[in-house]
Amino acid sequence: MSEVREVVIVGSGPAGYTAAIYTSRAQLAPVIYEGSVTAGGALMNTTEVENFPGFVDGVMGPDLMESMRKQAARFGSELVTDDIVEMDLSGDIKILKDGSGNTIKAKSVILAMGSAYREIGLANEKRLTGRGVSWCATCDGFFFRDQTIAVVGGGDSAIEEATFLTKFASKVVLIHRRDSLRASKIMADRAHANPKIEFLWNTEVTDVLGAEKVEALQLRNTVDGTVSTREFTGLFVAIGHIPRSELVTSQVELDGEGYVKVEGRSTRTNLPGVFACGDLVDHTYRQAITAAGSGCQAALDAEKFLSHH
Ligand code: NAP
Repeated sequence: MSEVREVVIVGSGPAGYTAAIYTSRAQLAPVIYEGSVTAGGALMNTTEVENFPGFVDGVMGPDLMESMRKQAARFGSELVTDDIVEMDLSGDIKILKDGSGNTIKAKSVILAMGSAYREIGLANEKRLTGRGVSWCATCDGFFFRDQTIAVVGGGDSAIEEATFLTKFASKVVLIHRRDSLRASKIMADRAHANPKIEFLWNTEVTDVLGAEKVEALQLRNTVDGTVSTREFTGLFVAIGHIPRSELVTSQVELDGEGYVKVEGRSTRTNLPGVFACGDLVDHTYRQAITAAGSGCQAALDAEKFLSHH
């Protein structure tokens, strides 16, 4: 591609699609790289979203993303279901390469790569991924009918996964490293009221056991250090996320945890013409609605930048 685009958006969660809706309505003809396997972002792996304003009865995560996608397309966004694999963001003209080997040039770039699942960091967790270890209850829950499975974590995601998994499992044990949940009260109350969910407090998973598939977990009590083994056929890990900033690590300023740094309340990075939004910058709120809001800000910041240059 020899033409220079006004704006390229990398990533397609609520932040990326909202940036696409705004920049396309502003006649900037954006191209949005949705990702080859992660198009739609984290909400594609979720069930009902009850707190996105405007949906009185809730909305399924994938349906919400499909609506945002169509809305972006309606105003002329070019949607590309591929990854950006390389970026040079330093010059006035930004140069990006996609997974099919195309080069894309742009005057501005909006980074909206979101976040990835955090791993516990155990060698056997990796080895048994897809063989009982999973990060997505909606994708894999079906395979655990009438079984006893573990969910690790104490936030909203862990509660959501555990609650969803009770549709299939005979028992779900929620393993949390402390003695109180981080999850919101409404979700925690629902889980406490669910007879299929057992809470295992002050416990961490120190190993995943099984030759071909998950058979048991090695557990350590975080208070007295006792180590024990308990049989499970599945392990769902829901311990938060890490920003997907690896593509821009050596180019834009990141904070100590890998989030892209932005200037004040704006979405401006340290590089002129490069903006960042959504979970990629957000330590704190990480909601679909706040990601969408910051995608809107990035679009407005990019529009302003382009009108001045
Ligand atoms: P989170 O709120 O950051 O919670 C992560 C949980 O995992 C915490 O309980 C944490 O323990 C635990 N944890 C972290 N690292 C661990 C490790 N190495 N080993 C064991 N446990 C570990 O993440 P989240 O639950 O994914 O939620 C992220 C955001 O999305 C939140 O803002 C949440 O409200 C939102 N969300 C909302 C909904 C909804 O409203 N429907 C659903 C899902 C997520 P500590 O508590 O000890 O730190």
